[in-house]
Amino acid sequence: MLTLTNKEDKVKPDLTIPNYADIYVIGDLACSVDAQGKPLPGLTQVAMQGGQYAAKAISRKVKSQPKLAPFHYSDKGSLAVIGRRAAVANASGVHLSGLLAWIVWACIHVMNLVSFQHRLSVFIQWAFQDLTISRGARLITGTAPTHFKFKKEIAVDRSAPEVHAGTVAVSD
Ligand SMILES: Cc1cc2nc3c(=O)[nH]c(=O)nc-3n(C[C@H](O)[C@H](O)[C@H](O)COP(=O)(O)OP(=O)(O)OC[C@H]3O[C@@H](n4cnc5c(N)ncnc54)[C@H](O)[C@@H]3O)c2cc1C
Repeated sequence: MLTLTNKEDKVKPDLTIPNYADIYVIGDLACSVDAQGKPLPGLTQVAMQGGQYAAKAISRKVKSQPKLAPFHYSDKGSLAVIGRRAAVANASGVHLSGLLAWIVWACIHVMNLVSFQHRLSVFIQWAFQDLTISRGARLITGTAPTHFKFKKEIAVDRSAPEVHAGTVAVSD
């Protein structure tokens, strides 16, 4: 497995990794940086834009067309849910909060899902959760019940010198 954990392991400006010109690393797996060398945030916008860039770059490579300019992340603003039917939004100097911001949040999230089927199913799930005031799927609190015996099922190598990104550290 390839792990990118060191400073030198940042993805290159074209989102490929050093020494592997045909491997693109995008989204949460990637440590990509902006023009000032500042790491890009682990957000959906970064993952989506990276995906679109990589798809275009691969398509150009296949057609032997000239390379794309380096990846440039365009920050479209921030949205965060802060409660039931309440959110905060900040885009292009416009600040919204409360129900209006939540409607914007919900529309943007549903619109960006990949297919009509997914949009409909997420919309129905959200409506059901809202009507029944059930616990949101987005909140994970407490310990999940499980019959999985970590010590028996997984041999954890405790002598390993370091933990890499992507490794699950287990203790029970
Ligand atoms: C609780 C939480 C809240 C968040 N809220 C926001 C937010 O409000 N706004 C925002 O912009 N970002 C938010 N994020 C961050 C956002 O979810 C991530 O930045 C984004 O999903 C990254 O996209 P990705 O495609 O890189 O990874 P993912 O969305 O994690 O997609 C990776 C996919 O690969 C699949 N996968 C993994 N391993 C394998 C395998 N071996 N074989 C096949 N498939 C595999 C996974 O099942 C998953 O579907 C949040 C993240 C969390 C955890």
